[in-house]
Formats: sequence, structure tokens, C-alpha cells
Amino acid sequence: MIKVNSFCYFCSMPLFITSLNSGSNGNCYYIGNNHEAVLIDAGISCRETEKRMKRLGLSMHIVKAIFVSHEHSDHVTGIPGISKKYQLPVYITADTLKSSNIPIEKHLVHSFNGYEPITIGALLITAFPKFHDASDPHSFMVSGNNINIGVFTDIGSACPHVTTHFKQCHAAFLESNYCEDMLVNGSYPEFLKKRISGDNGHLSNAQALELFLRHKNKKLNHLILSHLSKNNNSMKLVGDIFNAHAGSTKIIVASRYKETPVFCIDELYKPSAAKKNSKSSQAQLSLF
Ligand SMILES: [Zn+2]
Ligand SMILES: [Zn+2]
Repeated sequence: MIKVNSFCYFCSMPLFITSLNSGSNGNCYYIGNNHEAVLIDAGISCRETEKRMKRLGLSMHIVKAIFVSHEHSDHVTGIPGISKKYQLPVYITADTLKSSNIPIEKHLVHSFNGYEPITIGALLITAFPKFHDASDPHSFMVSGNNINIGVFTDIGSACPHVTTHFKQCHAAFLESNYCEDMLVNGSYPEFLKKRISGDNGHLSNAQALELFLRHKNKKLNHLILSHLSKNNNSMKLVGDIFNAHAGSTKIIVASRYKETPVFCIDELYKPSAAKKNSKSSQAQLSLF
């Protein structure tokens, strides 16, 4: 386990994060420092993942592992190809692996348990259970250099596991899946509406906003609203809702069609310095 409080040459380093794709057509979230990175889920193809990372100035060669939240295809489709090509370890529970039915080379399969952090270089990845209609679903918090990044998508309810970790985050990918009015008045069959809005489904805009307002800490500097429904939500609606309550937090809405920019997450974030930070992060990234 890393000692994040002990002196280290790299302790002033920020973490870099991006959503490579977010939505029911594929999810892949990148979190890393200058030396190593992890992917949380890999739900787009290897080729598309490479293409988007290249556009962002990120190298696949610093990605050291893939962590899998659950078996739904929008989270695992790219795993066989990416793990095979780059020989990346895949951290996946036995139940999720069985349910996903995806081929992963045996020597690359690693299991994990909730609340037992895994060290990848200077990153510490903590999984914890979540409510979702999957066999063994987990959310993740990735920590490094005293910075915590949460990935909270595909959650039916904001249970204490989620709120406890959300409170610690400097940046978070938070699901804001559907607008309740659009879902209720939309064309989905009743069983699907119930599945989406149930305690094992997805988080609505209102639920995500409540979580943000009740549980954000003052260090939360970036909130990336994620996994938006194609038919029951819109990027503009989510942006408007959260920007009205953002305070000092920068609001980003992740797209289901393309990558977000890379965001540089510092322990001490000043909103006015955001532009400057993003320029320096791009300069650092081009060195990879
Ligand atoms: Zn999903
Ligand atoms: Zn799911």
C-alpha cells in the first residue's frame, strides 16, 4: 500500500481524468498520473479506445490495468481486445466474469474484494458494492497523491457506500441517467421504466443533484455527469440543472459519442486557474 502522506518527489503531481465514452452504448473512464493509469470499464472497442486516447495525447502504454464494475455489455465489450493486445491485468470479480461471458486470457484475470484497496504504481483503487441489476456490481474510487476520484455510474440508489465515498472526492464521474418526466411520459414499456427507475436501475437527474448538493465536500472541483440516457435525457438539460447549483465545482457533461477533454485534478483547485491548469496538463500529456 502506498503511503500518500510520506515525502515523495511526485506528491505535487495531479491526476488526469477523462471519459472516453459514457452511456448505454459504452463506458470507459481513464484515471492516471504521469506514470500510470487505469481504465474503469472498457465498453468501447480497442480501436476506438486507442483512437480517442491518441486524440487526447494519452498513451495506452501507461495504462496498467482495467477494473470492471459489472457485466453489462456497455462496460465490458472492449475488454477482450484491449487486455489481449496490451497484456493488461483485468480486475473483475468471479461472479462478474462468469456473467459477462467474455474471453479474457487466464493469466490476466485478477479478482478483487470490496473495501480491499489494490495498488497500481502510485494509484490506489478501492472497490465497493453498489445497487444495480447485475451479479456483483461495484463502484470505484481511485486515489493518488492525496487526490480521490470516484466513478459512480449504474447505481439504482445513492446508498451509504456511495455517499461515504462521494464525500471524499476531488472529482467524480456521477451518473445522471434520466429526467423523470421524460421517462414517465416517454415511449418505453412499463417494465423498462420500472427497471430504470427502480432501486437496482439508474440514478435520475434529481437523485444525482440531491447527492451532489447533500454530500459534496468543498474540495470537489470537477463533477462529470455521466451515463446519460439517449431517449430520456439531454446534455443541455443536465448542464443547466447542475450549473445552476455548481458553486465552485466545474460541471462537465460526458457525451455518449465522444471523449471529454482531459481534466487535471489538483488537490488545491482554484476555479479561476482552471484554464491555466488545463493548458499545463496538455503540455505534460504530450510528453507521454
Ligand atoms: Zn451501463
Ligand atoms: Zn449496467
